[in-house]
Amino acid sequence: MSTKNEQLFLQAKKHIPGGVNSPVRAFAGVGGTPIFMHKALGSKIYDTEDNAYIDYVGSWGPMILGHAHPKVIAAVKAAAEDGLSFGAPTPFETTVADTICALVPSVDMIRMTSSGTEATMSAIRLARGFTGRDNIVKFEGCYHGHSDSLLVKAGSAMLDIGEPTSKGVPADFAKHTLTLPYNNPQAIKDCFAKWGDAIACVIVEPIAGNMNMVIPTQDFHDTLRAQCTKAGAVLIFDEVMTGFRVGLGGAQEYFDIKPDLTCFGKIIGAGLPVGAFGGRRDIMQGIAPLGGVYQAGTLSGNPLAMRAGIAMFEDLTVAGFYGDLSSKVDSLMDGLQALADKYGISLRTNKLGGMFGLFFVQDGETDTPQDFDEVNACDMDKFNTFFHGMLERGIYLAPSAYEAGFMSSKHSDEDIRQTLHAAEAVFAQMQGDRQGK
Ligand SMILES: *Cc1c(COP(=O)(O)O)cnc(C)c1O
Repeated sequence: MSTKNEQLFLQAKKHIPGGVNSPVRAFAGVGGTPIFMHKALGSKIYDTEDNAYIDYVGSWGPMILGHAHPKVIAAVKAAAEDGLSFGAPTPFETTVADTICALVPSVDMIRMTSSGTEATMSAIRLARGFTGRDNIVKFEGCYHGHSDSLLVKAGSAMLDIGEPTSKGVPADFAKHTLTLPYNNPQAIKDCFAKWGDAIACVIVEPIAGNMNMVIPTQDFHDTLRAQCTKAGAVLIFDEVMTGFRVGLGGAQEYFDIKPDLTCFGKIIGAGLPVGAFGGRRDIMQGIAPLGGVYQAGTLSGNPLAMRAGIAMFEDLTVAGFYGDLSSKVDSLMDGLQALADKYGISLRTNKLGGMFGLFFVQDGETDTPQDFDEVNACDMDKFNTFFHGMLERGIYLAPSAYEAGFMSSKHSDEDIRQTLHAAEAVFAQMQGDRQGK
């Protein structure tokens, strides 16, 4: 990378821990120096020397209409002219709430936050308040933001109390979090048999996008819904990533499951800081000021974020939007698979709507990973080689084998052709390296 970029990273590291404000940006998984960006337009993002990259990160999902979409920018400019924040209710919040409740039938009422982390944290507090129970269940490989109860992994004894995955999380918090293997209906049944009437809620990424992209079975979701209903536990779908990304009704529409609560974020603010959680009216009425579960936010429902979201929803709800988006993903995935096969690279892919996953599985492996252990078993060195090869050729992928990829409506056939052209060169090199060994 350029010396200017190295210089910027050095400067950043002086007063920002690790030089970044969110760890995955640091390229720790793939090695090398993160690229400092300074602007973006449509499908492309530009580094500080104005080198263009075709962007498949899209700010980790929000930029579904492409960067700096004229309509969204105009809405934000108009909102800014009217003042940045009031700390009082605005009609824009009602419009966003009405829109989401109309598009996602399981959501009767919704509360805005400023991040996905706040949405999941508050939804869990609400579930605990509603049920009067303390224990929560989550799944290996799912990410729900960085609140204490969620930075927990399975303890050494299966089906037992969890251990913190981060320093600073008290064991007393972790002991209320049970972590199960993803996509494993039997583990859910065993857990409910043992803990059933002590479980306040189960939180799940209905399609996992934080361990690459894993699409679970219908049986997994049917079991989860049935067990939660039977035990009186609140089923929380964390659709911060999948909401309005895999389709207009989210992953819950795809699996035809009605969760009790749903968390949103990322896309709904079109790139401004936002989150939301909503669901069953009887549960949502438990939040202050209606009920006894406290939840608040000085900048929640911020008018810039709301007006950006309103502008974006106008485009998302146009007939054919998600069909077009997924056909772009199809061309990219089909093209990559054909090239990988041609060069003898063991690649598996997953996709739904505007989201995709690329797995460099071990040679001879033909299955697509189904859970966190199988994602961990992938060839991370191969991913890293692919990532850097693509980056050198102007294609910006998430700098980690544990992240999903995102398409925008602004990615053109030419962008996809260029991406495949770059991939062919990288695959050819990877094949050559292997034969050279
Ligand atoms: C990104 C993400 C979060 C956290 O959202 P932030 O806005 O980063 O706090 C929570 N859950 C899922 C599934 C996510 O992808």
